[in-house]
Parts: sequence; structure tokens; C-alpha cells
Amino acid sequence: MSIQFGIPRRQSVQVMIGGLAVGGDAPVRVQSMTNTDTADIDSTVTQCAELARAGSEFVRITVNNETAAAAVPRIRDRLEAMGSPVPLIGDFHFNGHRLLTDYPACAEALAKYRINPGNVGRGEKRDTQFATMIEIACRYDRPVRIGVNWGSLDPELIARMMDANARSENPSPAEEVMREAMVESAVGSALRAEELGLGRDHIILSCKMSGVQDLIAVYRMLAARSDHALHLGLTEAGMGSKGIVASTAALSVILQEGIGDTIRVSLTPAPGESRTREVVVAQEILQTMGMRSFAPMVTACPGCGRTTSTVFQELAEDIQDYLRDQMPIWRETYPGVETLQVAVMGCVVNGPGESKHANIGISLPGTGEQPSAPVYIDGEKATTLKGPNISEQFKAMVNEYISERFGAR
Ligand code: SF4
Repeated sequence: MSIQFGIPRRQSVQVMIGGLAVGGDAPVRVQSMTNTDTADIDSTVTQCAELARAGSEFVRITVNNETAAAAVPRIRDRLEAMGSPVPLIGDFHFNGHRLLTDYPACAEALAKYRINPGNVGRGEKRDTQFATMIEIACRYDRPVRIGVNWGSLDPELIARMMDANARSENPSPAEEVMREAMVESAVGSALRAEELGLGRDHIILSCKMSGVQDLIAVYRMLAARSDHALHLGLTEAGMGSKGIVASTAALSVILQEGIGDTIRVSLTPAPGESRTREVVVAQEILQTMGMRSFAPMVTACPGCGRTTSTVFQELAEDIQDYLRDQMPIWRETYPGVETLQVAVMGCVVNGPGESKHANIGISLPGTGEQPSAPVYIDGEKATTLKGPNISEQFKAMVNEYISERFGAR
């Protein structure tokens, strides 16, 4: 155990993926997955770059057929040419052994392979096909994520465990057997991979489930039974606020127990919605828990009957969007800006107090208050903004603060 962010953190074996450390003392990493057809090189490159630009430290792409496998090295090259070296993870099911064998350039272009032990093959083929993928990982010195998913849990394993449970004197509830089977599939597959020569420092485990309590229980079991690096994620979390709330509820409990080395938030985007939402949510989970900083945070009150105009909501949204949009540039020019805290408050009740706790904060006039907005910088009242363009004046002050505080000296 080591102490990080004020909480004891489970010590896992560190794995290097495309030059980035995962596990051990490394920060919890954020990853995402494309939803483009990998064979569509243009769309996949565009989305990978978009996800990387939003802050995804690894991007997973499905490699489901020969055309996709042939596209992978071209996607890798195109991203490099664009200056986006984000490590790509190949997601393999059913035919991964064949694709990795027949497309060595694909095997080489990927920084990690994700293998689902439930979808590797059936019967005797399962062991040989799994072994083929592990041997290729050894040959190219690539790490592997053994990613169990409860929707595709090895049917032979679960049938065997359910039968044994039914014959026992005190049978466990079916959901407990299911959880045991998830962990057994992950840990047992990792053991087989190690027997085949893949080092523990090349293995990451995950057991994704769609129920919050199931996920928490399974990761506690995984953490107790192995020291492999762990990838966390609630699978099939869903759309909109339901997906965000379910993922946050599950991941924050597990992370708070010091478990987890990478995370993904599996959101179903609304039609036309950017895929980057899942990256932003993952970052916000880690940042609001105090584990990492990715972008300046805006503290805003919820508003109430004292804020009858929309100026307050518009400014809070405008500032939050502006700060996040600038991050790809600011990361380079203003190192440390991601720790900035901005407050946008609706009236004098809590406005000045909350603004004083931020690096820079504004307390807008509530209904019936004087049309003036005091601005606080590092706890001191700096000025009072007045007039019709308070929002623009405040944004200019935020820019000036960032330039002075985080700019090159
Ligand atoms: S700070 Fe003022 S506007 Fe905001 S919620 Fe509190 S009372 Fe309402």
C-alpha cells in the first residue's frame, strides 16, 4: 500500500503501455473507445485524435475483421503524422488469434491487446487460440488486458461453477457464483498467460459488470486476489445522466478504496453527441475526488429565486466551456493551469464567501441587488464590475490571471 491523494492505494504491478506507466505509483489513467468502424480510416483517425485531444491517454479501437486489422497501421501512421501519438489498444474477440497472426503490422502498431477470455473460442480451441494471442504479445513485447465482461462470460466456466454450487451442501446465491466466475476467469486467464511467458508487468485485468453493487464487489475480490494492474469501468452504463451517475457511483467507491489504475466511462452518446463526453466525465470523476487535475474547475451555485436573469447561468457555462476548450493549448503554454479554481456565484448570499476560496471568483448581482459584481482574486476583493458586459470583463480578467500566474516567467 502507498498513500496517494490522502488515501491508501493498492500497490499493483506497473505496466508500460506505449511509453505511459499504468499501475504502481502512476496516476490513474483515463481511456476511451471509438465507436467508428475501424475499417473507415478517416473517421477512426478523426475520432481517435478528438478523444486524445480531450485528454484520453489511451484509445481503444475494435479490430473485428481483416479490413479493420489492415487499417490499424495506417491509422497509427496518420495519427503520428498529425502529431497525436496516443497509444492505440486493439479490442479482439473470436478471431483475434487469426488477425494478429495474419496482420503482423497490426500487431506491431497496437500498444496493447485487449483479450476477452469469454470470446476467445470454445472447447479445445479456446486454449490454443488464447495461447496464440499471448505468444504474439510476447513476441512484440506488448501488454495485454484480460478483460472479462459479464455479458460474455466464458459459458463453460459459469456452467461448471453453477453445477458445483448446486451440488454443494450450502449453495450460494446465483449472483455470488457469477461474481466468483468473473474473478476466476480473469485471475485464471492471467495465470495461464504468465505460464505462457507473459510477465505480470505486461498484464492488466478488468471485470466489467453493469450493476453498481456487482462491480464494487467484484473489484474488491480482484484486488484481494491479485496484484495485477486493474482497469475499471461499469459496462453498458447507459445514456445521459443515468450513465454518468451509475459510473460515478461505482468508480468513486472503488477508487476511494485505493483500487484501480485506469478507468473508462462507457457512455452511450446521444445521436450527434461527441464521443469525448466519456473522457470529460472520467476526468471529472478523478478531479472532483482530488486524484488528478485536468482542467480548471468552475464552482457555481445552483441558482435560486434570487437569480431571475439568465446572466448567471450563461456566464457559468460560458466560463466552464471556455476553460476546457483552451486546455489543449494551455497545457503547453500555462503548465499548472489545470489546478485553477474559478467561482461564478449568483448573489451576495454565498457569492463573496465562495469567491474568496477560489483563485478568481465573481459574485453576480441577484434580483433586486445593485447591478454590480465584485471580483475576488486569491481571496482579496480586486474590483467591482458594472455595466452590460460584465461577462466579457470577467473573462478578460480570468485570461489575465492565467497569463500572470501560469505564463512563462
Ligand atoms: S448564492 Fe445566491 S443565487 Fe446562488 S443559490 Fe445561493 S442564494 Fe441562490
